[in-house]
Amino acid sequence: MTASAEPARDGLDPAQSGLGDMDADAFRRHGHAVVDLIADYLEGVGERPVLAQVRPGEVREALPATPPRAPEPFDAALDDLERVLLPGITHWNHPAFHAYFAITGSGPGILGEALSAALNVNGMLWRTSPSATELEELVLDWLRQLLGLPAGLRAIVTDSASMSTMLALAAAREQAGLDVRQRGLAGRADVPLLRIYTSEHAHSSVEKAAITLGLGRDGVRTVPTDAQHRLDVTALGEAVREDLRFGYRPLAFVPTVGTTSTTSIDPVGAVAELRDELVAELGHPIWLHVDGAYGGMAAICPELRWVLDGVERADSFVTNPHKWLFTPIDCSALFVREPAWLTRAFSLVPEYLTTDDEGVTDYMDWGVQLGRRFRALKLWLVIRYFGADGLAARIREHVAQAQRVVAWVEQHPDLELMAPAPLSTVCFRAAPEDLGGDEDARRRLNRAWLARINATGEAYLSHTELDGRYVLRLALGNLRTTDERLSATLAVLERELTTARAAGSGTPAAG
Ligand SMILES: *Cc1c(COP(=O)(O)O)cnc(C)c1O
Repeated sequence: MTASAEPARDGLDPAQSGLGDMDADAFRRHGHAVVDLIADYLEGVGERPVLAQVRPGEVREALPATPPRAPEPFDAALDDLERVLLPGITHWNHPAFHAYFAITGSGPGILGEALSAALNVNGMLWRTSPSATELEELVLDWLRQLLGLPAGLRAIVTDSASMSTMLALAAAREQAGLDVRQRGLAGRADVPLLRIYTSEHAHSSVEKAAITLGLGRDGVRTVPTDAQHRLDVTALGEAVREDLRFGYRPLAFVPTVGTTSTTSIDPVGAVAELRDELVAELGHPIWLHVDGAYGGMAAICPELRWVLDGVERADSFVTNPHKWLFTPIDCSALFVREPAWLTRAFSLVPEYLTTDDEGVTDYMDWGVQLGRRFRALKLWLVIRYFGADGLAARIREHVAQAQRVVAWVEQHPDLELMAPAPLSTVCFRAAPEDLGGDEDARRRLNRAWLARINATGEAYLSHTELDGRYVLRLALGNLRTTDERLSATLAVLERELTTARAAGSGTPAAG
């Protein structure tokens, strides 16, 4: 189409007709426009529908299917962002986003992302940007101090808790001394059945790691939990004993601090105790990896530091600054007691990457990735901007808001609290008296209630399943959720419950 017509020159930068990059003047102009767009977006996000109201395919159809032959004005793309993309965004920044874990970035974190994109360094080796490696080591040690973890732990930034857990379990596999790195697992008669133990409420990333590492889903045994959804350590001991009789070898224990459904906190100290007993008895190591992707950050508040009790005995621990520390996705922190297990598992240095640098960390040796983004920069800016006290105050506020929701549920005649809420997530359901104990009717009512809430665009909640019951989850953790906004959201929930009930949802006849 463009071949016949002269490409529009309006709004193009001089550099777009040459061979170089956007020049400094144009960068400044577009950069200011982008910063204004971000500031306006963040300021007004609470007025947008929180859950994207588009149908599948709608976004794609609204954009050209083929790339432009000729340069286009930068502003035109920004216009499309406003016009087409924003309606298709589910706004995690929205103050009534309460689904999953309510994650927000923050101003300093967003600016940190821009700066690391500008520097565009690849931190694969220390020498490919000493500041990237050393700031990563430093800022993770800051985080360790904020969480009250012991000195001497080392750490690496990864993209996600899923990747961190996979690396930790690869280290566990290496520590088992089976030389899987060299010989693999397939076709070996000398390798016992290997088992990773975690709770039935553990995150699916544990199983995904087992899939990736060749241990298979059968290599993960999920252990029952107690009435408060915490890993039952007696049941763990029994599971291991039973497996030992069938020739399994325990490879790792993975307790969770803040499970994904209810934020229950597994008794890490008791798991560590059992691990030590078994190691003494069996004479081989069992790795202890703690998944604190969300809940771990609570320890920044001194009064909540207990959530990490026992983690000082772990071999590895993951927590995500992108979940509850106001750092834009992605940024996960993996702490390890002994990085040699990671480097033994992963270090593989081709000639072109060898160096003579001594006493430095080459993070490419710690995992799968060669090229690595400078993610530590945004985390450093976030911690400096808010300070330890400011971070603790914000996390404390989210926990207090969750307690307000708990109080609202408990005083409501038609609602039922479905799990303890030790952190910032509340699990509850509607169980009005007139439905009696009819579980099918309750499920229908709660599903209908949630669908109505989310369809309004005024709030977004998600659900989970607890003991065979359909449960709504409301997660706090958003820097923009004021008490006023939370009250307004609870009023939306109240209104939609009334309409769901009036529509007959849940009554046996309604189906
Ligand atoms: C969110 C979560 C994960 C996965 O985190 P990603 O960074 O998205 O991989 C793992 N474990 C727990 C407990 C989580 O809450």
